[in-house]
Amino acid sequence: MKKIGMLGGMSWESTSTYYKLLNEEVKNRLGGLHSAKIILSSVDFEEIEKFQHSSLWDETAVILSKEAKAVENANADFLIICTNTMHKVAPQIEQNINIPILHIADATGEALVKEDIKKVALLGTKFTMTEAFYKNRIEEKFNVQVVVPNEEEQNIVHDVIYKELCLGVCNRTSRDEYIKIIKRLEKEHGCEGVILGCTEISMLIKQGYVDIPIFDTTKLHVLSAIEYALK
Ligand code: GLU
Repeated sequence: MKKIGMLGGMSWESTSTYYKLLNEEVKNRLGGLHSAKIILSSVDFEEIEKFQHSSLWDETAVILSKEAKAVENANADFLIICTNTMHKVAPQIEQNINIPILHIADATGEALVKEDIKKVALLGTKFTMTEAFYKNRIEEKFNVQVVVPNEEEQNIVHDVIYKELCLGVCNRTSRDEYIKIIKRLEKEHGCEGVILGCTEISMLIKQGYVDIPIFDTTKLHVLSAIEYALK
């Protein structure tokens, strides 16, 4: 079994989900007392979030590259960055390490192709919904059309992530807002599925709350990590 390197803490709420799912998946596949081999570096999210909202992405890349190197030096065989948003600086991190990064958008894109999805809705932080690093990767590498919420909806989705989910808060009204947005994207744009493109959204939205299939990036990233670790 390969040793999984994790960059976490963004937020720790979703990192704890990753940790649980990684171990559960190894247990499912290998049985007995088997569990995942993990090296985790968990950052202080307040520092990262301040830089994000001040557009100081290079500063975030410096912090994460340093942590990624520490994970590599602790003998991790590969790295997963446990947030969709921070894949914005994945190319910079990649330059500083000698182990591969399993990209969260690739894990997601592969699942979309497997389910024959041609048009998909994307919910995440504003950075993930509006910038090229994520959307374009799904569109160009996997040939799936990505539809994002309108500006007003994006603000709702973004604020719920930073002001509630990353603090461990799940509100019923926020859940209803998310469901309404997903349903509109399905009805008005013909989206055949929805990417939960933020690693905390699965705390709020589960399959069954909406009619179209959900693509939970946390779960999909975990499955691809375990697949790779056990290959
Ligand atoms: N975990 C979130 C994501 O998947 C948001 C927190 C962050 O900005 O990293 O994008």
